[in-house]
Amino acid sequence: MDRKIPLSKPYVGEEELAQLKEVIESGWLGLGPKQREFEALFAKKVGTKHAIAVSSGTGGLHLTMLEAGIGPGDEVITSPFSFVASVNPIIFCGGKPIFSEIDPKTYNLDPAQIEKHITPRTKAILPVHIFGQSCDMDPIMEIAKKHNLIVIEDACESLLATYKGKNTGTFGKAAVFAFYPNKQMTTGEGGMIVTDDDRAADVYRSLRNQGRSMSNDWLEHDFIGYNYRMDDLSAGVGVAQLNKIERIISLRQAAAASYMQRLSKLDGVTLYHTDSQNTNTWFVYTVLVDDTINRDNVIKYLNSRGIGSKPYFPAMHLLNIYKQRFGYKEGDFPICESVSSSILALPFFTAITEEEIDHICKVLSDAILTNKK
Ligand SMILES: *Cc1c(COP(=O)(O)O)cnc(C)c1O
Repeated sequence: MDRKIPLSKPYVGEEELAQLKEVIESGWLGLGPKQREFEALFAKKVGTKHAIAVSSGTGGLHLTMLEAGIGPGDEVITSPFSFVASVNPIIFCGGKPIFSEIDPKTYNLDPAQIEKHITPRTKAILPVHIFGQSCDMDPIMEIAKKHNLIVIEDACESLLATYKGKNTGTFGKAAVFAFYPNKQMTTGEGGMIVTDDDRAADVYRSLRNQGRSMSNDWLEHDFIGYNYRMDDLSAGVGVAQLNKIERIISLRQAAAASYMQRLSKLDGVTLYHTDSQNTNTWFVYTVLVDDTINRDNVIKYLNSRGIGSKPYFPAMHLLNIYKQRFGYKEGDFPICESVSSSILALPFFTAITEEEIDHICKVLSDAILTNKK
């Protein structure tokens, strides 16, 4: 029997337990002082004026779409190579996701493809920094400025990743990070909105908390709001994680380097490309397999040997829920479709060992050899 190596695993231990103990002993489990501590620490790390903790990345994106005024018929340009959580918040507000083709190397939005999708109904661009690597933000910001569009960054996979030395999450009007256990850092469930805009920050704080008045009168409500609050237990875990985030990121970068070193000579796979103007903080580790190899069988082979692997991500525009509703079809975004049909994710987590990576690469090599079409 092979041992099992999961696709992902959170990096939690004594520091998180100490924080949980402190919060439980404080008797304050809801929205409270630990959350404010987490927000202040997060804003400082990323380099924004405000950080507003929420109960998930999806909830955070929903609030940024609402604050941006996205409503029925409004169009938001975004990436088809992503996760449903970046697309659905547009639809929650009645808006329409307008997909735009990706770059074949980074799998992020290709800025050169964006302008042709702009119509009088376009209100915003939602770049998704995929897999821990920033989008090419200079041209995206230029296009937004020229056409007077709001930019909201989906930075859920790119904590502390940089573009030309600047952190993701600091380019748009606002950005959203996520802390599900497979992300670079976790709070269990959780997310964070960041912005430099004072008014938007007030609106996010109000909307996450039942639309409660910004003047903080207990029973005054300015909006029809939501319950997207983060509790203090989650915030405590977040503080512990942020306190060691530099170590987390350097371990992830070392693990990715280790994969790359072992796989660079393997025939049949193409490694993920990090652009020289970016630093990647590695959300996942993926490879593309050649056309001559049956990707789905490679995944099955890995799984049968106890190694977690998944096709990651499927093309969003080909999901039935969006095809039926918005009329997308096969052939709309050939680069995204080609990446989606040949990509696979390998086990990747902060504490993965050299020895595990070595084993995974050997099994992957067997899987490639035995699954030529
Ligand atoms: C994780 C993720 C989100 C948000 O996820 P939640 O599970 O709601 O925290 C949004 N967009 C992308 C691209 C993600 O990977």
